[in-house]
Amino acid sequence: MKAMVLNEICDLSKNKHPLQLKDLPKPVPGEKELLIKVSACGVCHTELDEIEGRTPPSKFPMVLGHQVVGRVEEAGPGAGRHETGDRVGVAWIFSACGHCDFCRQEEENVCESFKATGRDAFGGYAEYMTVLEDFAYNIPDIFSDSQAAPLLCAGAIGYRSLRLTNIKDGQNLGLTGFGASAHLVLKMVNYKHSDVKVFVFARSERERDFARELGAVWAGNTEDKPPEKLDGIIDTTPVWKPVVEALNHLKPGGRLVINAIRKEDKDKDYLLKLNYHEHLWMEKEVKSVANVARKDVSEFIQLAAQIPILPEIEEYPLESANKALLELKERKIRGAKVLMIG
Ligand SMILES: [Zn+2]
Ligand SMILES: [Zn+2]
Repeated sequence: MKAMVLNEICDLSKNKHPLQLKDLPKPVPGEKELLIKVSACGVCHTELDEIEGRTPPSKFPMVLGHQVVGRVEEAGPGAGRHETGDRVGVAWIFSACGHCDFCRQEEENVCESFKATGRDAFGGYAEYMTVLEDFAYNIPDIFSDSQAAPLLCAGAIGYRSLRLTNIKDGQNLGLTGFGASAHLVLKMVNYKHSDVKVFVFARSERERDFARELGAVWAGNTEDKPPEKLDGIIDTTPVWKPVVEALNHLKPGGRLVINAIRKEDKDKDYLLKLNYHEHLWMEKEVKSVANVARKDVSEFIQLAAQIPILPEIEEYPLESANKALLELKERKIRGAKVLMIG
């Protein structure tokens, strides 16, 4: 099978072709596993973190990709939850231990034995992959393959992030960064909390225009002061400046939710501007989001079908994965990038 493979950690500013097209053996489904013929796989900022070593693959070579949509081609021994031909999705959560306290409370995303798709096991930048049947989700018919893909990460984690802000009707929500996840959060807010006002902070005018088009009441640059203080803010940027600026914009008791698997070190000095009185005093909170539990994925995918959320997407052939990743790195973004495979 064709796969785009990462052989080692590299610096994307020097190496523009981190992934290589390889011919790998077609995987065989094990106990309770499914063999999936991949049709689409979303491209996520987390792949940049893997390539550049901030959350490195646990082995090499690795097939990246954790927003996978495909069809069941074969069920392994003991697998019976999905039929051959069923369309299923796979998200970042590849597996967890199943018996620790976190797993038993449906918070398997923070399980110590958590394994990630496309980091600890081969993912969807390939024609086929295998996954445990309990970690595959049915995809509602309303979505095309490429529309469903970004919902599995950006959408599901956006759903969990929004839940963790505790935002209520009539309140003000901020979004710092306006990529794949944030634009889906804005669509969810429009549906679930139509009287929540959304304020967007983004570096590029293009992203700010896109935010206003989708219904943000205000859009400014990272350091701009919004016209009102905010009850909750979701940060989806890879850097520190937006964290410090966001804390300054929170109301007393407000919560900043950081939806980023890793932060880059390049502007870490900005944290020295953190001033207890301005940024943290008055019971302000900071909370991170450790991606998603299975519940978030399955609840969100149903909600997205109801609303419906049909994400803005840009499609690329599998062989152009490096191009898609570089554009993501350079923030050439309008909606979510998806590799079209089979
Ligand atoms: Zn992702
Ligand atoms: Zn566990």
